[in-house]
Order: sequence, then structure tokens, then C-alpha cells
Amino acid sequence: MNIHEFQAKELLKRYNIPVPDYFVIRDLDALKDIDLDEAVVKIQVHAGGRGKAGGVKFAKSKAEIKDVTKRLLGMKIVNNQTGPQGVVANAVILSKPVDIHKEFYLGAIIDRDQKRMSLIASTEGGMDIEEVAQKHPEKILVLPIGMGGKLRMYQIVAFNKFMGFKADVAKQATKLVQNLAKAFYELDASILEINPLVLTPSNHLVALDAKFAIDDNALFRHPGILEMRDPDQYSKAENAAFENDLSYVSLEGNIGCMVNGAGLAMATMDIIQHEGGKPANFLDVGGSATKERIAFGFEMILSDPNVKGILVNIFGGIVSCRMIAEGIIHVVKERKIKIPVVVRLEGTHVKEGEKLLEDSGLEIIAAVDLLDAAKKIVSQVQEVI
Ligand code: GDP
Ligand code: MN
Repeated sequence: MNIHEFQAKELLKRYNIPVPDYFVIRDLDALKDIDLDEAVVKIQVHAGGRGKAGGVKFAKSKAEIKDVTKRLLGMKIVNNQTGPQGVVANAVILSKPVDIHKEFYLGAIIDRDQKRMSLIASTEGGMDIEEVAQKHPEKILVLPIGMGGKLRMYQIVAFNKFMGFKADVAKQATKLVQNLAKAFYELDASILEINPLVLTPSNHLVALDAKFAIDDNALFRHPGILEMRDPDQYSKAENAAFENDLSYVSLEGNIGCMVNGAGLAMATMDIIQHEGGKPANFLDVGGSATKERIAFGFEMILSDPNVKGILVNIFGGIVSCRMIAEGIIHVVKERKIKIPVVVRLEGTHVKEGEKLLEDSGLEIIAAVDLLDAAKKIVSQVQEVI
């Protein structure tokens, strides 16, 4: 789950990481309570690259603050981080401007290649870190974060040297980087990123921007962070999935996928792609798929107007394929589904399930295995479009 910059900054403050003062504004009326003569106005959306998209503006007077806030509230940005539908800013922050001497990058991630938490630091802040990694890998330092979110002293020394932090700045940086690693670990983050971390002309380190994502599976341990979830930043289907405890991610293609198990769902998407099709979504209805969840899964898939066909791929390990077949027949009838539906069932009671589908009189296309299923749905969808 992602949260907004201002919420990420609240978390950073709890860990004694300095951030500029800011006010969160959701409507123009709120401006009258704020005494700032200049501000950096920043849209609050779950995407980076706001500066480039025109969502970060300097305002140099009260009148300008009002004018800029008016323009940025409700602004929509579309970039490679938002998906084609874009995201809308229902809030902005007015941030007290900070003078910048130099910008740095500091972040922590779950490093899947290395199977550990990694700290990432760079002397090139404020820009796209992926680009820096590609063009100037020597300007990036990666350090393993130890158990409990701890960094070793020799790592911190190496970090300060790499970043060019000396004397008092090194002292600040030491605390800051330790606190960042601790916050990352304790809050079960999947990403915690400060870009830019700035050094002011008076030699203070300040986190100018903050990005935080938490592992969904750890949310139960952090009710306060769960409360920060902003449904406006997700699609209707993503919200419905969240409320019903299903994993759903909308994608750009036109083949709706309903699968049980995340691994199988990924394999299904891969094989569709391999056969020349494009998945419209990732949907894991869970290991214990029920009739209701199947019905609900169909609703979500059908809420996407781009969907031209549906592939159901269920492995009946715990669940019975008979029950799944009943669920599918029920929705296809109730919803009068006209687009092609290909079903691949395997596992418990598979024969009974397949027979139910066959006898239903509905145009449900049976597949013998996953490859067959992918081939069938791709050719069906190609015929329709
Ligand atoms: P992003 O584009 O979504 O990453 O938004 P940021 O909050 O990182 O802002 C983009 C850029 O605007 C930063 O990299 C800074 O260069 C600049 N910026 C943001 N806030 C301030 C500020 O208070 N003072 C100055 N001088 N520049 C700022
Ligand atoms: Mn930034």
C-alpha cells in the first residue's frame, strides 16, 4: 500500500528525520488560516515525477499561493508511474521553501535479488534514480541493512565518505541514515525513499520529498498506517478488491484473468502474453475461492470496459472444481455475459466440474490445460476485436 508524501513525512518525523514544515490543503477556504508569504505547493498523489508533470510550483506571495493552489487542487497527472488513467490530486501541501546547496538520494528497499533489505544512497539527488543507476552506476552506493534495521558503524563511515559528508553534516547524516533504516524495518516498508535529501547552505540535512510503501501483508500490524489509505488514489475495482481481501491490479490489456493463487495468476499472465494476448488484470481470488468470491471476481473484471474476454484458471487444491463450476455458471447466467469465457479447471472434483459446464448449455469454452486455455482465449479475443 502506498501513502501520500505528507503522510510519509509524518512517519519520518516520528523517527526524528528532519522535514520542512508543511500544511495540508484540501480546499481553498483552508488557506485563510495559513500564514505563509511563500511556499512550495505540491500536489499529493501516489506517483513521483510530480515536478516534471507541473505538480510542484513555487509561490512567492500570498496571492500567488492562492492562485497556484487553485490551479493544482484537482489537477490530474498521467505519467509512467500512474498508468494511463492518471491520478487526481485532492490535496496539496504548502511546504516552507528550503534553500538548497546540494541534492542527494537516500532510500531503502526490499532487495529481491540479494534477498535482503538494502540501503541505497546517491550523490545525484532530485532526479530519476533508475536513470542514475543506468548511466552512472558508480554514483550509487548499495549497503545491506542488518537484522532489526541496523547498520554497522563501518557501513556508516563508508556512507558518509561516499556522500562527501564531513564533520557536523556527517553527524546529522549518521543519525538520519540509522533512523531511516530503523523506520524501514519497524514499519514493514517495501520502499522508503527520500529524493531529494538536501543539504542547505547553512549545512542542515532535510528530507524534501518522501515516498513510503508498506507490505500489504503487514498492514494488520500497523493500524495507524492502514488508516492513511486514500481510496481516491486507486481504481474502483482496486478498492473493491481491497475491501474484500482479494489481490487485484488493473493492467492495460483486454483479457480478464481470474485465478486462484498469486503464482498461478502470474504464470497465467505470462502465458497469455506468450501467446500474443494482453492481460487486463492480475486477480488472485485466493486459495479458498468460494462461489461468492468467483461472482465478485467476475464483477471486478467486468467493471473494466476494455475487457473483451475472460480466462478462468482455477486449481482445485483445497476448493472443489464442482463448486467453482457452479459459481461460474451462476454468474454467466445472471450477468448474461456475452464475451467469450474460457475455463481451465484442474484438481479436486474436476470431472464433475467440467461436466456441469458442458451441460450448462452456456457458451463456456473448456480448456484442457493452461497453454490450451491461453491459446483459446487469445484467438477468441482476436476474433472479437
Ligand atoms: P517529485 O517531482 O514528485 O519528486 O517532487 P519533489 O518534492 O521531489 O520536488 C521536485 C523538485 O522540486 C525537487 O527535486 C527540488 O529540486 C524542487 N523543490 C521542491 N521543494 C523545494 C524547496 O523547498 N526548495 C527548493 N529550492 N526546491 C524545491
Ligand atoms: Mn522527489
